[in-house]
Amino acid sequence: MMPVIVAVILWLAISGGLLALAYRRTLSAVWREPVLRAPVLILESDDWGYGPLMQAERLDRIAEVLAGFRDASGRQPVATLGVVLAGPDTDRMRADGCRTYHRLTLADPRLAPVREAIMRGRARSVFALQLHGMEHFWPTCLMRSALVNKQLRQWLASDTFPCTEDLPAPLQSRWVDASKLPSTPLPADEVAAAASEEVHAFATVFGVAPEVVVPATFIWSDTVESAWARAGVRIVVTPGLRNESRDAEGRVVAGERTYFNAATGPQGVSYVVRDCYLEPSLGHTHERTIRALRSKTRAGRPTLIEIHRLNFMGDERSVQHALDEVKRLLDAARADFPEVRFMSTVELAGHCRGRSPLVEQRWSVRVHFLIRRLAEVSRLRKLAWATGAALPALLAYILTSPRGLSTAESM
Ligand SMILES: [Zn+2]
Repeated sequence: MMPVIVAVILWLAISGGLLALAYRRTLSAVWREPVLRAPVLILESDDWGYGPLMQAERLDRIAEVLAGFRDASGRQPVATLGVVLAGPDTDRMRADGCRTYHRLTLADPRLAPVREAIMRGRARSVFALQLHGMEHFWPTCLMRSALVNKQLRQWLASDTFPCTEDLPAPLQSRWVDASKLPSTPLPADEVAAAASEEVHAFATVFGVAPEVVVPATFIWSDTVESAWARAGVRIVVTPGLRNESRDAEGRVVAGERTYFNAATGPQGVSYVVRDCYLEPSLGHTHERTIRALRSKTRAGRPTLIEIHRLNFMGDERSVQHALDEVKRLLDAARADFPEVRFMSTVELAGHCRGRSPLVEQRWSVRVHFLIRRLAEVSRLRKLAWATGAALPALLAYILTSPRGLSTAESM
């Protein structure tokens, strides 16, 4: 009997050790990722800024909806706005026959209604501003494509300020040359200068430097990140990966790296993962987002919800539908999670950095959440069960459970 027990223990130790070795990067990243002690819900809405003046009215309505809710601590929900600072000066483009690119920024009096609506929401603490980019494209590439594309020339010379959402998807990526597919890298010196320029332009328009950047279409590079960091950016929002190029069909191509909350990049920025969605114009409903909130909370992670400007730019019916879905989401979140916390992405990063009371410190609870998170890595979970390494993990999971055995069934 004894030799069998020794053999089993040896086997579990060796298989567990080998798995830990194979997954050491994931293991250490997941261990270092903060475990939050309360559900955190943040709405993240990109693409606002340059574009039609009706954005002002839409932003006011969003602010009004958000201002109607409070979390248990009395805090209102926050929509972070990923701001696009500039686009074509369509009047000048038209006059010039689209020969050269003329930039119009949010500092221009013609875009004052939009800028002021953004500021109003910020003054009410329901908006927090993040940098999405100077333009939602790389002007040289857009101009090159416009030479052979009449629709692009019409877009550049519209009667009103056009929506960047109407551009072909590949051209909406700012940090690669997608004027020909597959995309090619842009000159590093130009990229670095532009990344630094946009951070300073944001400060000029809003009076404060941006702490958070949301890369357009989640394509960016080390050169871009390093220039942002040097200009003072501290946080980069990512869906858990980094897109690096566009393939021959124009689809984004992700790099190898994976990103975890509060992990620090080579340039010193920290990352926040946003991979939940509420895009009513694409048919998403709040129920799906609540499921995401449930699963993120279960893993001790924050829930950052993508809800693009596009949802609010259509006709009255679609706008009202989007606003209603936001209301339903916030109602359901408050009802299902009375302890839910509303905050901005900057505040979330501050909690993680400062190890505030929102962040779990107890070693045993952190082990519990580590196992819970690792169990979500499908391949690792299968390998753990196949080799038996899951058994000691299950035992550790039960022993570290803050509520005893009751959570064991959910492994
Ligand atoms: Zn965008």
